[in-house]
Amino acid sequence: MYGAKNLRILVTNDDGIYARGLWTLVAALKEAGQVVVVAPDREQSAVGSSVTLHQPLRAREIDPPVSGVKSYSVEGTPADSVILALKNLVDSEIDLVVSGINEGANLGDDVLISGTVGAALQGYLNSIPSIAVSVGALEDVHFDPAARLAVVLARLVAKGALPKRMLLNVNLPNLPLSQIKGIELTHLGRRSYGDMIQEGHDGKRKYYWIVRGKPEWKPEEGTDIWAVLNDKISITPLHAVATSSRVLSILKELSPTILRELFDRD
Ligand code: MN
Repeated sequence: MYGAKNLRILVTNDDGIYARGLWTLVAALKEAGQVVVVAPDREQSAVGSSVTLHQPLRAREIDPPVSGVKSYSVEGTPADSVILALKNLVDSEIDLVVSGINEGANLGDDVLISGTVGAALQGYLNSIPSIAVSVGALEDVHFDPAARLAVVLARLVAKGALPKRMLLNVNLPNLPLSQIKGIELTHLGRRSYGDMIQEGHDGKRKYYWIVRGKPEWKPEEGTDIWAVLNDKISITPLHAVATSSRVLSILKELSPTILRELFDRD
């Protein structure tokens, strides 16, 4: 084995327990350690870091498509799956959480609603190195380069070469390994969707359906979006400290006004 110990790896996703990307990842990560799978029973893309508190969760052990891997299907979100795994379903400590391989990129602003990142975030919040892995395509997805990269990163975790408190957002262009032009260490770019609402009627009531427009790219050099658009792998280290220092200083200037308005009025 690689490194000082046998790495215990929790694999999850937001595309559901039977997604091909999940099992490609599991098959590869078996080389790097002992894998356990806890994943939602159905697709949960775009649920972000949502946690279910108002109803019970059910988990069921399944017959895994990859042999020798204890696997549970959870009637809940990706984040629920990780919490349940860490606090109950898995007896041993987990050394690494890997979420994916997602069908579709999770770039820039996507990380705020991504279920793939939302699952990895739970690992990170529990001080376990966590990695979200996505490939930028919804059809004919090349999962193998992503699985291989996950193994490389897992071995670095096993060696203790990476920090414990770490959340990596990894995105790959949808290409075979031979056509990928390198790896960029990036920061999050900006990408917005211009959401549209379609209205309809189900025969009883009016409904609204949020339809995502084509993403608008602002591919500034050095961003994750730019890397993937240039056929490179993007690795962005994230953290959960999202305080805006720019707005904080504006608010500090406004705070006498806010205090006056709040306490002096009427
Ligand atoms: Mn997904």
